[in-house]
Amino acid sequence: MDKKGILIVVSGFSGSGKGTLMKELLSRYPDTYALSISATTRAPREGEADGREYFFVTKDEFEKMIAKDELIEYARYVENYYGTPRSYVEQKLNEGKDVILEIEIQGALKVKKSFPDTLLLFVTPPSAGELKSRLVGRGTETMDVIESRMNRACEEAEGMDRYDYLVINDDLNACVEEMHSIIQGEHRRSFRNQAFMKSMKEDLERLKEQQS
Ligand code: ADP
Ligand code: 5GP
Repeated sequence: MDKKGILIVVSGFSGSGKGTLMKELLSRYPDTYALSISATTRAPREGEADGREYFFVTKDEFEKMIAKDELIEYARYVENYYGTPRSYVEQKLNEGKDVILEIEIQGALKVKKSFPDTLLLFVTPPSAGELKSRLVGRGTETMDVIESRMNRACEEAEGMDRYDYLVINDDLNACVEEMHSIIQGEHRRSFRNQAFMKSMKEDLERLKEQQS
């Protein structure tokens, strides 16, 4: 099978459990996946470290990264900028890793446009009520911010059908395994295996010639 990694975008409502899912997927399959670390102008949350969850940068630094074409995509989300650094993604894909970008929908659609083979996954909790409980339960945002994220969720819901798969994050364990199966199944798509198909055809021709 062809060796190059797949570029995967994971989007979903804030509070749907993307971060939790990614952490679990990476700890179970560390040799298969690489998670891109975005740059953002938002302030770190309690417990977040620079270079681990995000590269926390100033607006000035972010604008310089845009000017130098160092970002694959970027978007504004609830008053802050978020963007995907290019070099890490390219390096890991070439190493054969499946690279995951955990980004919102505007960025997802830009990535799909630049890289049409990207696999788009949308994570959602089983219900809107469960989304609100998770945002409140996480305890990292004020009620004002939670409200703006719930409003943003209404807008994002309009884009769900632009994604290749919906991933319902009800039971965490089942959801991690489902996501892994979807991605591994994606490796078997014929269009991702051009080199294998070419060599199979050549070998078949060679055997046919030897027989005649
Ligand atoms: P996101 O990264 O999408 O904003 P988080 O990973 O921070 O979401 O999850 C939001 C909250 O929901 C966290 O408190 C997390 O522990 C919780 N959570 C995540 N997945 C599940 C799940 N399957 N069942 C119940 N709670 C969950
Ligand atoms: P949070 O502030 O909760 O960490 O992230 C807010 C939103 O920004 C989430 O939907 C997250 O997926 C998205 N996001 C994180 N990094 C990037 C990025 O590099 N580009 C884009 N377009 N969105 C991002």
